[in-house]
Amino acid sequence: MTDPILKDCINPTCPFSGEPVAAGSLAVYRGHTVGFCNPGCRDKFADNPDDYKDAKALFDERIDALEA
Ligand SMILES: [Zn+2]
Repeated sequence: MTDPILKDCINPTCPFSGEPVAAGSLAVYRGHTVGFCNPGCRDKFADNPDDYKDAKALFDERIDALEA
């Protein structure tokens, strides 16, 4: 598996801070590249996505639109 890259990121801003997504702060969620403003935000979501329902809802909405 290749590392996620910024070009593929489905969201322009971090769901936690609203700051722009950083290239070193990407994760894969539901098979899509999602981004955060720093690795701390990424790790807290990646470790426990179910704890961050707002962030999940934002990603789910974008992914559902992409897959529709
Ligand atoms: Zn963030």
